[in-house]
Amino acid sequence: MRRITILGATGSIGQSTLDLIAREPDLFEVVALTGGRNIERLASDARVCGAQIAVTAHDDLLDDLRAALAGSGIEAAAGAEAISEAAARPADWVMSAIVGAAGLPPGLKALEQGATLALANKESLVAAGPLLMETAARHDARILPVDSEHSAVFQALTGESMDAVRRVIITASGGAFRDWPRERLANVTVEQASTHPNWAMGQRITIDSASMFNKALEMIEAREFFDLVPEQIEVLVHPESLVHALVGFCDGALMAHVGPPDMRHAIGYALNWPERRALPVAALDLAAIGTLSFSAPDAGRYPALRLAREVMAKRGLAGAVFNAAKERALDHFIAGRIGFLAMSDVVEEVLTRLCAEKGLVDAAISLDSVTHLDHLSRRCADRVVKEQD
Ligand code: NDP
Ligand code: MG
Repeated sequence: MRRITILGATGSIGQSTLDLIAREPDLFEVVALTGGRNIERLASDARVCGAQIAVTAHDDLLDDLRAALAGSGIEAAAGAEAISEAAARPADWVMSAIVGAAGLPPGLKALEQGATLALANKESLVAAGPLLMETAARHDARILPVDSEHSAVFQALTGESMDAVRRVIITASGGAFRDWPRERLANVTVEQASTHPNWAMGQRITIDSASMFNKALEMIEAREFFDLVPEQIEVLVHPESLVHALVGFCDGALMAHVGPPDMRHAIGYALNWPERRALPVAALDLAAIGTLSFSAPDAGRYPALRLAREVMAKRGLAGAVFNAAKERALDHFIAGRIGFLAMSDVVEEVLTRLCAEKGLVDAAISLDSVTHLDHLSRRCADRVVKEQD
């Protein structure tokens, strides 16, 4: 029996993970499930999979969670600290699927206790990649990619030497507005931005896909995961979302990973690694699909990709600033305070202001310094939005 913890169990990735685990209950024992506001789902999933403990991120929901778990014998807890404590409980495999930088502290705790961390929470790698990697190395723990592009790269690299890798190409569907003229983007609604043409995902990553901030985060994620130089990382628009990534080698070969847009493939690969096991994922009929198309992303249309390159050139804590400013700009867009295109303006302005402060982003990376910069960046983003009013 493998001991499993799922951070962010009530979300899109968390639910797909539970779906895979439920299909083979004899193989897995669930230690902890964590969630946020969706108490009903958290409690019912904890009952179904027989978790030891269920934790909500919100202190004010502890009584509701206790009531929903009454008579089950399952422990209930609440708050960010309690999520980190749950992640520190001995487990063999921990799914990191909280959305946002809130996933960083529990991800570190999971690595510190030596668990394999299946990482969907790209924000933690963007904000604190070197810290996660060092923590994993220090505790002899492993981080496995779950983001589909990074899982694809990881799979294409099996048995290969990194010395032979020349380039890594991650694909982007182009999101909800890939065929819209840029002038129309200024007025898109939150609802329009929350619909993805190919993938069913949480609202925040869906909007990030439409703005290309998701791909911008993924460029940085690729650098951290595979220790690449920024020039090796390329983005290709591929509307069908079937080729997830390609790795280019020194002999000219390109190894492409092709699969249906179903996150259970990447989650299942990380769950079964180093083996491959059957997964409930549809087989692709390439003859019926007929054509796969690719194009270069339009740099003017997607400032997020340019900003990602600037962040990669700066290194240090610039990733923490970038991620936090993006999270806050997204909050403001969802709240209707700024338009869709203003998100990248806000992020750029926060980067400019905080990177200009001497020594700020060059400080050593630790949980404290990342948390500090994260707070500063969110406050700065709020100020920038206020000034625009
Ligand atoms: P969802 O919004 O569907 O789920 C997020 C999860 O995190 C929920 O369990 C939510 O709880 C919980 N949560 C939200 N805020 C907090 C917080 N402050 N502290 C603790 N828990 C919190 O997101 P997704 O599943 O789509 O994405 C999860 C992560 O995986 C993200 O980092 C995303 O970028 C990444 N990812 C997602 C993909 C996808 O297909 N969905 C693909 C690749 C990467 P509740 O809902 O109960 O409030
Ligand atoms: Mg992805």
